[in-house]
Amino acid sequence: MMSSLQVLEGGYIAVNGNWTQFGGNLSFVCLAISLWALFSIEFQRRSFRQEKIAFGIIAGGASIGSILLAVEFHPGIYIDLRFSPLALAGMFGGPIAAAFAAALAMAFRFAVGGTAMVDGIITMAVATGIGLAGHFWTFKRSPGLKDVALLSLALGVALVLSMALLPTLVNAHVLAGVGFPLTALNCLATVLGGFVLLKTQQWELERSILVTAFSQSPDYLYVKDRNSRFITVNENMTRLFRFRTTAEMIGLSDFNLMSRPLAEELYYLEQQVIDTGVPLIDSTEHIEGRFLLASKVPLRDKQGRVIGLAGVTRDVTERTALERELRESKNLLSHAMASMSDGIAMYDSKGFILFCNEQYRNAFPLSGEARVVGAHISDILRRVVETGERPGIPDDVDGWINAAAASLHSNKDEEVQLHNGDWRSIRTRLAEDGTAMAVVSDITATKQAEIALRLSAEELKSLAETDGLTGMVNRRTFDEAFARETSGSGRRNMLFSLLMVDIDRFKAYNDTYGHPAGDQCLRVVSKCLRQSVSRPADIVARYGGEEFVVFLPDTSAKGAMIVAEQFARRLAQEDIVHSGSEFARVTASIGVSCATGAELRTNPNRLLTEADAALYEAKTQGRNRILAHSPNGERHAMKEAG
Ligand code: GH3
Ligand code: MG
Ligand code: MG
Repeated sequence: MMSSLQVLEGGYIAVNGNWTQFGGNLSFVCLAISLWALFSIEFQRRSFRQEKIAFGIIAGGASIGSILLAVEFHPGIYIDLRFSPLALAGMFGGPIAAAFAAALAMAFRFAVGGTAMVDGIITMAVATGIGLAGHFWTFKRSPGLKDVALLSLALGVALVLSMALLPTLVNAHVLAGVGFPLTALNCLATVLGGFVLLKTQQWELERSILVTAFSQSPDYLYVKDRNSRFITVNENMTRLFRFRTTAEMIGLSDFNLMSRPLAEELYYLEQQVIDTGVPLIDSTEHIEGRFLLASKVPLRDKQGRVIGLAGVTRDVTERTALERELRESKNLLSHAMASMSDGIAMYDSKGFILFCNEQYRNAFPLSGEARVVGAHISDILRRVVETGERPGIPDDVDGWINAAAASLHSNKDEEVQLHNGDWRSIRTRLAEDGTAMAVVSDITATKQAEIALRLSAEELKSLAETDGLTGMVNRRTFDEAFARETSGSGRRNMLFSLLMVDIDRFKAYNDTYGHPAGDQCLRVVSKCLRQSVSRPADIVARYGGEEFVVFLPDTSAKGAMIVAEQFARRLAQEDIVHSGSEFARVTASIGVSCATGAELRTNPNRLLTEADAALYEAKTQGRNRILAHSPNGERHAMKEAG
């Protein structure tokens, strides 16, 4: 048989080869490759290097086997498929596999010896090199069918070239007779073997994906036999039951892992699945304080017999707790919403109601029906307008609706009055996500109390400021106004005048005509006083019982005299009969004083004391007269009224 190697490289060749025999050679090579495919999964569990070495040894063995099974293609001429496994080992196994395969095959060839030994070894090296080139060519991706075809083509070319160039192989007969079948059959073996290896790689990938998904799943995965014993488990299972490796759990059952009653319960469930073939989906288990959701599906063989079960258990402890929390807080929230006194509504960023409680609807008696989940703020406002729920809406209804709808998405507090006089406070708050929360409270009572309070406060103020009998400013208010007006506000040269008026013999009037008549007389006197002043800044006040003051800012003594005379004239015109008076009718005495702004600043009381002194003088001089205070202490009778 060894002679085949010599014959390959020389001699007469006529093609009447034994194809059946050659098929055997091809089968051997393919068998070796298939063996590798079968064992590769087993070898994959070992180290990367071990796997590659094993592949190299099998490929080298295939090459050697092919040499040993060389076919007598023509009497005395043998060919074989030794190059194909070497090229495949290079491409699919990389440098380590290639090195082992090539070393084995070359060593064998060397041991055989012969004339073409060196050329044969060189060709083997070339075939391996082509495989390695293919390996690096496809290094960054997985090789495909096209790469296998290219490898086969490259190997063919290399074989033809080696036969054409290597000295001991150069032989026209060899090229014509052996070269073609040798090349073609090595190419064919490469394509077939490459195809098997490609498929193997693909399966390995799929398998590793499945294994990874199984072993790394966050759920608890297991497969059990008919007796509920573990056939395989994933890593999460080993963690749950505190084992180091998955292998430690294989063969165990739930009875080894948990309390007997619980294991019995699970066993019963699983046996039911196995006996009936009906899967158990999402049954709840409660183990070691954890809530688990378990599914158990029967596992069948090709004939459909149940051979065990596959289980998936999901830990839903956190989810269950969260769900319970959510449920509880929802209950709490809806309870709070339902029992609170305020109306509450949540609008989304586009203005549609997401949620509202009954109180919110009830807060608006006419538009309440329109306030439902899904309703838009514009439609609600339109209903408000149509029903007249809110009085005082401007004529431009659309403009008002648009403005009000737009302002929904801003923080604001407003108080609105409804058609029936009730008041609502609407507080709107904008959340970060664009939703608006509106809280509506009935503030009718507070609002009414507030209005009543404001009215009575205003009333009180005017009561405090005015004299009830005459409606004039009272003394306290006068004192305040006087202090305000004279305290430095006037210009230095501005003149301020003051009249002090006292009714003559008024005690006698009361005594004669009675107190009510006296009151009426006081009203008439005050009317006359008011009619005698004309400027808004002038202040007429009831200073005491039947004493009045008239303060005249920016008025000279002369101007003050004119006011006083006018008053005396008006009072005379009233002609109130007073039998107890020497003048037979009601008269008054008037003291007049005048001072500059500068003088008042140094002595604010000067106007009052001087007017009072002048009044006293007027009384002394016989009443019913006007006296002005003079700077030198004399009092000038300006006019004797009458
Ligand atoms: P004379 O000319 O000196 O001013 O005499 P007279 O009587 O006016 O003197 P006097 O100022 O002492 O008297 C004031 C009187 O005015 C005393 C009081 O009875 C009366 N009087 C004060 N306030 C009121 C009031 O509100 N109504 C009435 N009817 N009389 C009042
Ligand atoms: Mg008096
Ligand atoms: Mg008097």
